[in-house]
Amino acid sequence: MNEPLKKTDHRDYRVVGLPGDGIGPEVYACARRVLNVLEQTHGLCIQLDEQKIGGDAIDATGDPLPQATIDACRASDAALLGAVGGPKWDNNPADRRPELGLLRIRAEFNLFCNLRPIVTHPSLHSFSPLRPELLEEVDLMIVRELTGGSYFGKKWRNEDEAEDVCRYTREEIERVTRAAGRIAGLRDNRITLVDKANVLETSRLWRSVASRVIEEEFPGVRMENMYVDAAAMHLLTRPSDFDVMLTENLFGDILSDEASMLCGSLGLLPSASLNHEQFGLYEPVHGSAPDIAGQGKANPYAMLLSVAMMLRHSLGREAEAQALEQSIHECWSAGILTRDLRADGCSTNEVTDAVCERLTGLAAV
Ligand code: NAD
Repeated sequence: MNEPLKKTDHRDYRVVGLPGDGIGPEVYACARRVLNVLEQTHGLCIQLDEQKIGGDAIDATGDPLPQATIDACRASDAALLGAVGGPKWDNNPADRRPELGLLRIRAEFNLFCNLRPIVTHPSLHSFSPLRPELLEEVDLMIVRELTGGSYFGKKWRNEDEAEDVCRYTREEIERVTRAAGRIAGLRDNRITLVDKANVLETSRLWRSVASRVIEEEFPGVRMENMYVDAAAMHLLTRPSDFDVMLTENLFGDILSDEASMLCGSLGLLPSASLNHEQFGLYEPVHGSAPDIAGQGKANPYAMLLSVAMMLRHSLGREAEAQALEQSIHECWSAGILTRDLRADGCSTNEVTDAVCERLTGLAAV
C-alpha cells in the first residue's frame, strides 16, 4: 500500500464491477446508482467494467475466476464485489466452488491488507447485543494480514494427526504494519498489536518487527501490545478504547467477526483488501444471503460503505467518501433501515433512494 492518495484533478477511474451471486447483484446495483449520482453531483467519472466471479462465472465459463475478470482487474484502480456462493454450487467439486474465485483474486493481486472498520451509530445501538453505553463512540479499524499465517502454511492430515503450519516472514509483517501505521496517522495515531507472544514464536517476531517499523517510520504513532485472549474480552467490555487493531490472519478473522456484533447487523459492515499498488477489492462482509435473494430485502448499507472505502483508499476521493458516509449516517438517524433491522423496514431500493437523495442534497449545499 502506497501513501494515501491525495485528491487530484484526475477524474477518470476504472473500476471492475463483480455483482456475483444471490443478493450480490442487488446490492451491487445500489452501488452503481450511488456512483451515478456522484458522477452527476461531483463530476466523478468512473468507468465500470462488469465482469463475472463465483457461481455466476462458473455457470458462464466453468471457472470461478475467468481470465477476462483477472485482465479487467489488472487494468483497473479497484474492484467492487457483491458476494459469491449459494446452494446451487454447494456440491460442486473443489476446483469449481464459487468461494475459490474470491481466494484466487486475493492471491492473484496480493491483497495482503484487509481493513474492516467498526463504527457504531446511536440510532443503531439497540440492535447490538451489548449495552448501549458500551457502544458510544466506537470507531475502530481492524487491519488483518490476509495472505499469510496458518491459512496459507503447509498442511497435512492422516487419521491420527494433522498440522497447519503458521509461518510469517519479516517482509510480510513489515508491509502490513506500514499500512496500519499510515491508517493510524489518518486517525488517532494509536495501534494495538494483537498477538499471543507469551506462547507463539510467530507472535514474538510480529512484536519485534512491528515495533521497529512503527518506531522508525511512524514516530507520531503509539503502539501497545495485547494478547488475543485479552483483546477478545476488551472488545466487549471497552470497545471504544481501540483505534487501529493490527493482527495476523487467524486472529483477525475471529476478532473481526466478534467486533461486527457491535454494529447490529451483518448488512452494515464494509471491507477492503489492498495491495502495494493501491489496487483494492471492496466488498460487504456478508455473503450472498440466498434466503432473501430476489426479494428486495437485502440491506445495501455494507455495500455502500464499501464504495466509500473504495473512494478513499483506491481513488483518493476523500471528499466524496465523506459525503457518502454522511448521507448514510443521516439515513440511519432518520430510521431508514431494511427489514433485517426493523420489521416494518424499507426495501433495498427505498434505502438507496434515500441515500441518493441526501447525496444530491449535500452537493447542492
Ligand atoms: P450470509 O452472510 O450470506 O447470510 C447470513 C444471514 O445474514 C442470512 O440470514 C442472511 O439473510 C443475512 N444477511 C446477510 N447479508 C444481509 C444483508 N445485506 N441484508 C440482510 N440480511 C443479510 O452467510 P451464509 O448464509 O453463511 O452464506 C450464504 C452463502 O454466501 C454461502 O454460499 C457462503 O459460502 C457465501 N459467503 C460469501 C461471502 C463473500 O462473498 N464474501 C462471505 C460469506 C459467505
